[in-house]
Amino acid sequence: MEDLRVAGERLRVAVVGAGPSGLYVADELSRRGGTSVDILDRLPCPYGLLRYGVAPDHLKMKSLVATLEPVLGRPGIRFIGNAEVGTEVGNSVTVDELREAYHAVVYATGASRSRRLCIPGEELPGSFASSRLVAWYNAHPDEPAMTPLAGARAAIVVGAGNVALDLVRMLLGGCTDLRLTDVPDDVVDSLRQAQLSEVHLVARGTPAQAKFTTKELRDLDALDDVDLVVHATPAELDAAAADGATPVAQRNLRLLGEWARRPLRGARRTAHLHFGLIPTEVLGTSRVEGLRLQPAAGSAAVSRVLPAQVVVSAIGYQGRPIAGAPFEAETATIPNIDGRVQRDGSVSPGEYATGWVRRGPSGVIGTNKLDALQVVERILEDLPILPPPRTDRTVPVLLAARGLRPVEWDGWLAIDREERRLGQARGTERVKVRARADLHGLADAAAGSSRPLADG
Ligand code: NAP
Repeated sequence: MEDLRVAGERLRVAVVGAGPSGLYVADELSRRGGTSVDILDRLPCPYGLLRYGVAPDHLKMKSLVATLEPVLGRPGIRFIGNAEVGTEVGNSVTVDELREAYHAVVYATGASRSRRLCIPGEELPGSFASSRLVAWYNAHPDEPAMTPLAGARAAIVVGAGNVALDLVRMLLGGCTDLRLTDVPDDVVDSLRQAQLSEVHLVARGTPAQAKFTTKELRDLDALDDVDLVVHATPAELDAAAADGATPVAQRNLRLLGEWARRPLRGARRTAHLHFGLIPTEVLGTSRVEGLRLQPAAGSAAVSRVLPAQVVVSAIGYQGRPIAGAPFEAETATIPNIDGRVQRDGSVSPGEYATGWVRRGPSGVIGTNKLDALQVVERILEDLPILPPPRTDRTVPVLLAARGLRPVEWDGWLAIDREERRLGQARGTERVKVRARADLHGLADAAAGSSRPLADG
């Protein structure tokens, strides 16, 4: 395959973020011609949302990793983990340093910050943003091992998107035996030993306005020993379906109607689905004791207090600003036109954005593949005008000059081997390692020396 060239030089690209969006860009670029692509991630492990966002019991979705793994092993593509972009402190490189060393920089940093409810009591112990609980059960290195459900009998999840459904399901033990997933033993134990008898999903909109999709809703019905209680009458649900609902909403309404008509099974635990209720206060003195709710405009629901010891808000995500890169606070995205980044209202040559940081947190993982295709098209169109690198100081060189060394592909493979070994012992494909120190220890052993890295 011919090299992609800029003024006679092989195209050199830095992709910031080793989640599906970034990997799809690397994949597509390498299919179009010979390129040098460095994929940076602030974590020691690749795969971003697939590893740390997708719910562990969604095994089929998680298995997408197998299709992305070969991309990272391809000639010309380098994984550079534990390399943060934004500042010069710790294990970081700056955006300017990247722009000096590569023809193109592609931001694929996703949207990892949870939106907050901004109501009184939200900071009480027992109240969590979705990002924290999702990070906990997915063994994210930034979230320490904890026992968030200890002593809780009821939990409330606020929001009506797929993340809210993931949380309801996981709090009730997931729809797959958790020992057959990749979650660490302490998470399996914590979820298995949880004494939750009730989990409530609270939506502010009507059932027709819910953002979740039907397959994900249906997964609630696969939970073991759980009754589903829909707080809407079959007549209301039928009327909403007949009233110009979208095809997805109609499918959701039909399923909710089925559940609303079905007699309860007398299960040990119950998942409640409430609509038309707005949270106004997390109640409690030293920790969460409940959630105060008021009816949304036009809703027939009535004001009430739901007692609970855990409240999770799952009301969407936002991108994080990267120091040195433009950022639009209102949309929490990098301003761009068709993926070409804009600085001060004009296109900035050689800078691109893809995935959630480009368009906001919407769509399924596959949606990011389309984004990546478009961004690669833009890069190829722009080849004649890409600014030539002014230095050969690519990221490993920059970090080495500061006495730091990233986790590269052999380091990740060592982590991967250990996780598979742990998995074999439990009869599953892998069991994740959580702690940064352990991840670095495994990577270091593969690299054959100790790592003088800041533990960011
Ligand atoms: P989402 O789909 O945007 O849902 C956010 C929910 O939060 C909406 O129901 C929204 O209600 C509600 N909300 C927002 N602000 C609120 C407030 N102040 N008070 C109460 N409720 C509020 O976001 P998400 O669930 O985080 O999902 C993000 C993306 O990932 C989506 O595209 C989703 O489909 C995808 N995802 C997919 C899967 C899967 O395929 N299995 C799993 C997880 C996530 P309004 O509609 O009233 O604004």
